[in-house]
Amino acid sequence: MIHAIDLILKKRDGRELTTAEIEALVQAVVRYGEERLGHPAEVDAAATRITEAQLGSLLMSIFERGLSLRETADLTRAMRFSGEVFDCSALGAFTVDKHSTGGVGDKSSLLIAPTLAAAGVEGAPKIAVPMISGRSLGHTGGTLDKLETIPGFDTQLSLPRTMEVLRTCQAVLVGQTPALVPADRILYAMRDHTGTVESPFLITASIMSKKLAEDLNGLVLDVKVGSGAFMPTYERSKFLAELMVSTGEASGTRTVALLTAMDEPLGRYAGNWLEVQECVEIMQGRRHALSAGLIELSNALSGWMLFLAGRAGSAEAGAELADELLRSGAAYGAWLRTVEAQGGDTRIFDDPAAFHRPKAQRVLTAPRAGYLAGMDCKQVGWAVQRLGAGRSRPGDAVSAHAGLESHAKLGDRLEAGQPVFTLFTEDEALLAEPYAMLAETIEIAPEPPLLGPLVREVVRRV
Ligand code: URA
Repeated sequence: MIHAIDLILKKRDGRELTTAEIEALVQAVVRYGEERLGHPAEVDAAATRITEAQLGSLLMSIFERGLSLRETADLTRAMRFSGEVFDCSALGAFTVDKHSTGGVGDKSSLLIAPTLAAAGVEGAPKIAVPMISGRSLGHTGGTLDKLETIPGFDTQLSLPRTMEVLRTCQAVLVGQTPALVPADRILYAMRDHTGTVESPFLITASIMSKKLAEDLNGLVLDVKVGSGAFMPTYERSKFLAELMVSTGEASGTRTVALLTAMDEPLGRYAGNWLEVQECVEIMQGRRHALSAGLIELSNALSGWMLFLAGRAGSAEAGAELADELLRSGAAYGAWLRTVEAQGGDTRIFDDPAAFHRPKAQRVLTAPRAGYLAGMDCKQVGWAVQRLGAGRSRPGDAVSAHAGLESHAKLGDRLEAGQPVFTLFTEDEALLAEPYAMLAETIEIAPEPPLLGPLVREVVRRV
């Protein structure tokens, strides 16, 4: 019998847990969820028991001592199989997805899923994108909140229906169900309460267990760096990227990570419906100059996905193919099919700008002439959330029409009084605080800033 206290002592003293011990730990977490939190689960009567205090203590020991690569892979595998998993074998397709560590205005999933779905042609490898997405929390947006602004769009499909949409549309965009990776739900909530969220080992197991439960052949990770990134330094972002790539590869999923800049909101808009609008306009062939960074990032990520799937000879050729699929309308066709299959009303895409109905707006202008030289992107993300686009607690409602329009990008020359941002909200009382936050954070300098490339580095084993 494996006892929780022995696991704590071992980790506290810096020793490695065995595979069996890690499996017992995850079973104990599921048992804890069933017995203490009422989460329905099939629990083995002989499973190890763990108390709330022991779980907190063990998480802190892992936070302090870290995990070896083998332990991280074992924890990821045990969590992945702690509940239901997708079985995509009947599709006969290369299953591939992307995951982002979270950004401001990062709506690239809405372009990437239909682009990949549109890439299947006679004689080429079949591709399927089983995309499980998250909700907005903290300063970052969430794909599910964006999709749910489309009237009727259902992100909570049953597993059989998810598989059916995936089979017929080559892409599906859904939320995590309680039955999928239940161990992560419990561990994540506990980490939130015990100051153990920022462990790269626990982040890796949390993210990779959910992604690998999609039964993926390939995975492309977008790990953000810069002032809007989850990780505070470039080195820590890179360490996380390397750990996730090694863990994915150890599980038999071809995994690549791109370290990408998050120093300003991506593209033209940030906010739930506004981000859908920006993507629909791009897929309809209406490219605004301020969407260039978004298109570049989406094509780079799609390019790697197409390369891993064998549909392109290199990531660069994949990026060119992705751009062509966006320009030709093929991605838009795939988007319409998927939205319809998930119950969404596609008529609103006939005039997407008309659907944007904020109740109040305010323009922030440049206080003096100069170059837009910098901003704290996390602060910008918080401003967007406080306009009503995000939530301060899980379960809070979010506004469809709150958000931000960027009128300039880092490095652009501005004259005094020229618009930098327009803020939108559904509640006028919410304008003042985000306006002040944005006014405080933008830097206008006499010289243009030195800017690096959007894709800083690629981490890969393949
Ligand atoms: N996102 C996740 O899903 N898990 C983490 O631990 C951190 C970010």
